[in-house]
Amino acid sequence: MYFASDNTSGVPERILEALGRANDGFSPGYGTDPLMDALRQRLREVFEAPDAEVFLVATGTAANALALATLTPPWGAIYCHPLAHIEVDECGAPEFYTSGAKLVHVPGENGKIDPDALADTLTQSGRGVVHNVQPGALSLTNLTECGTLYRADEIAALSSVAKAHGLPVHLDGARFANALVAEGCSPAELSWRAGVEALALGGTKNGLMGVEAVILFDPSRAWEFQLRRKRAGHLWSKHRFLSAQVLAWLENGFWLELAEHANHMAARLEDGLSDLAPLVYPRQGNMLFVRLSEEQHFKLQAAGAQFFSSKGGQSASSPAPDGITARLVCSWNTTHEDVDAFLRALKNP
Ligand SMILES: *Cc1c(COP(=O)(O)O)cnc(C)c1O
Repeated sequence: MYFASDNTSGVPERILEALGRANDGFSPGYGTDPLMDALRQRLREVFEAPDAEVFLVATGTAANALALATLTPPWGAIYCHPLAHIEVDECGAPEFYTSGAKLVHVPGENGKIDPDALADTLTQSGRGVVHNVQPGALSLTNLTECGTLYRADEIAALSSVAKAHGLPVHLDGARFANALVAEGCSPAELSWRAGVEALALGGTKNGLMGVEAVILFDPSRAWEFQLRRKRAGHLWSKHRFLSAQVLAWLENGFWLELAEHANHMAARLEDGLSDLAPLVYPRQGNMLFVRLSEEQHFKLQAAGAQFFSSKGGQSASSPAPDGITARLVCSWNTTHEDVDAFLRALKNP
């Protein structure tokens, strides 16, 4: 019953086989490998973006921080939700890699930035005032840290507010594949057609051993990104092992199958939980937050279920301080049996 995170899962056989094939013989390093050439082409097709540039890094933190550094000057403001991974979970990497840009919170329900709040914040941004940080970039996360989904039109609405103020848009897509299958649209619709300039496309949480792709839909930023990646120590030497993973993951829509399964398991969990424990946020992908009594929490722990939990609400903005909020994440290899065992443990008298 592993519901702690989608990174507690291993790697599908198909990805390991691709790594095995990549291991044969010799291949040039540092992203000049033929597999990377194939992958770049493949991602351009998948995203219907023939000019996009693609770079691989090994962690989501590096993907986000390097992309944001490419979009934002040191005196810039990066607008993000207060629960954003870049704010809460990256140890100041965005501030570090941007050489000091400031993360500015924009609130909204269910982990999603409210467009009116964004417009208000940007209207009062202090642009042109030497005492203030200057508007730098908008950063969104999809799926959000609350497991909710920005629909394509919602991304477009936020992007258009950002664009009206001259800001580029970054998307933390650690769970982009889960968002994509939940929304049922094309990768282009959920990214550049909705105004996203830089996408951190997550692989690790959806079956890869450790690789994230940064897709720059505006190729004019590509050279700067490359220099920043190298300078940060994130240009992989035996790069073909990164390329091989992502290429195999995209093959015949495998990445979408993996995400579909994870979302489906979360839906099964949601169904089973319906008369046992209330959801804190609507479930839209592979992650759900549920409010448990102390007793329910204890029963699950005693049964060996793995998940993260916090006392009271998940944040100051979520209501109901009583009980415990548990975060349950399903992944590409969560089984029906695991879900059902979890529900049985909860029902046990
Ligand atoms: C997991 C995750 C990341 C990437 O984290 P790393 O541990 O640096 O790979 C980024 N954003 C979100 C929303 C995540 O959940």
